[in-house]
Amino acid sequence: MDVNSNNFIQALHNRDLEALRKVTKADLHNHFVLGGCRAFIKEKTGVDIIPYKGVMHSMEEMHKWNDQNLGDKFNNLEMRQLLIDATIVQAVNDGVKILEIGEDVWGLDAYFHGNIQKLIDSFKQSQKEYGKEVELRLQIGMSRHCSINSLEKWLEPFWDEKAFYSIDLYGVEHAQGIGNFKSIYRKAKSKGLKLKAHVGEWGTAEDVREAVDVLELDEVQHGIAAVESKEVMHYLRDNKIRLNITPTSNVILGRVKNHSLHPIKELYHSGIDVTINSDDVLIFDSDVSKEYLRLYENGVLSEHELDDIRLNGLKNLD
Ligand SMILES: [Zn+2]
Repeated sequence: MDVNSNNFIQALHNRDLEALRKVTKADLHNHFVLGGCRAFIKEKTGVDIIPYKGVMHSMEEMHKWNDQNLGDKFNNLEMRQLLIDATIVQAVNDGVKILEIGEDVWGLDAYFHGNIQKLIDSFKQSQKEYGKEVELRLQIGMSRHCSINSLEKWLEPFWDEKAFYSIDLYGVEHAQGIGNFKSIYRKAKSKGLKLKAHVGEWGTAEDVREAVDVLELDEVQHGIAAVESKEVMHYLRDNKIRLNITPTSNVILGRVKNHSLHPIKELYHSGIDVTINSDDVLIFDSDVSKEYLRLYENGVLSEHELDDIRLNGLKNLD
């Protein structure tokens, strides 16, 4: 067993968050706007972002929290850059060595004056300044409620940029049928991008299977609803589809009753490739080290199983 595994297991035994933070890990499901270091944002802007306490009963409550805590304070290039910086700082503080983040396609015009190089450089600049040791996997992001025509138009400048690693789809899960995105995903595949989408957070096991099948996904963000169907779990396992899971987000959004009942246990034991990630650190108080500790303290997975998942996240998928 390597020294990192020893340290990780020891840190879990001691419930020592600071020691856990020193162990290498990946964060493959992180929305950078809400992924930043709270203390860094407060120091730079004076804005104190307070995590949500309790359980939300609708997405409206999440939007309300966003309005109260972020409002329009961060809606310009300078503040966008600050949120990227804050996310890199958060990753470094949390021992995250592989970080997958990216801008929403509409953000190119909204924040970067339509200049794709400026967008890419913003992320690279943050990495250079705050996290040279972090492997940054740059992602192209799309919101599911946007029209396909708009997405295709916004995607144009992204396609031939080699800096991008993956493409992801998020937002309201049932905003429109998954089949609508097929041509975009075919093109993304032809460009060599890793294919990801948020599915099976609010939807069903069948939604997960359909999205993987239709879009030819490599990875699913969430996908926890797969636990409702043995057949879908076998499908994910047999096709080596990775689920990038975010336990505290699932609890706060009322998708899972509490940490001790989190389906990651059954998904992992079914042989599915799973990873543990933060989703939105600022709202859910869910940094990656805390996620491991919460699953351990709630008896969901053993220290060795959690270490196996940690190492799995650090492996390349190719
Ligand atoms: Zn997410």
